[in-house]
Amino acid sequence: MIGAPGAGKGTQAVRIAERFGVTHLSSGDLLRRHVADQTSIGRQIERYLAAGELVPDSIVMDVLRKPIVTASAAGGYVLDGFPRTVEQAETAYKVAVDLGVAVQAVVHLVVPRDELVRRLLERGRDSGRSDDNAAVITRRLEIYEAKTLPMLDYYSAREQVVSVDGAGPLDEVTEAVINALDRIRALLAEG
Ligand code: AMP
Repeated sequence: MIGAPGAGKGTQAVRIAERFGVTHLSSGDLLRRHVADQTSIGRQIERYLAAGELVPDSIVMDVLRKPIVTASAAGGYVLDGFPRTVEQAETAYKVAVDLGVAVQAVVHLVVPRDELVRRLLERGRDSGRSDDNAAVITRRLEIYEAKTLPMLDYYSAREQVVSVDGAGPLDEVTEAVINALDRIRALLAEG
């Protein structure tokens, strides 16, 4: 699941995972859990999260590898927030090959920038997330455009990218994502 901060990746990924009976894996949630639990790795992660910077790849992989292996053995997963750069996509590909699995679909949730900012500021007021404030939001959107959007070209050339309008009501977005994934499943089944 690819989308800018505020695009609704987390909310939609939970719903999609439930619908298809697979595990939801959010890199942001796993990283935030380390910070909350004050693990040794969590202390390194904290400042990157607060600044809206990407956590270094080696730390992200340390945190994600085991959950990916477990979820893969349990029947599959929806990845939310990872990969986030072309380099991470290449690493994710290698991990998947090792596990004998493949990316089946990449969902790109598209939301206009002013709506993203509106949602993130609202979430910041409600949840108190350290990175949902105006300065850090600007930085996260900048990183998304510079580092994550190029990854879409990477996947467009290799996999099935479906772009879904993420600006509408939650339930309509979920339905659009599920319809798109059902179409891909039918295509995959046909070979
Ligand atoms: P998210 O919950 O997806 O919005 O991610 C929140 C923050 O976690 C990001 O701003 C990054 O600091 C960090 N993060 C999440 N996923 C990754 C990733 N794949 N690579 C590097 N940093 C990440």
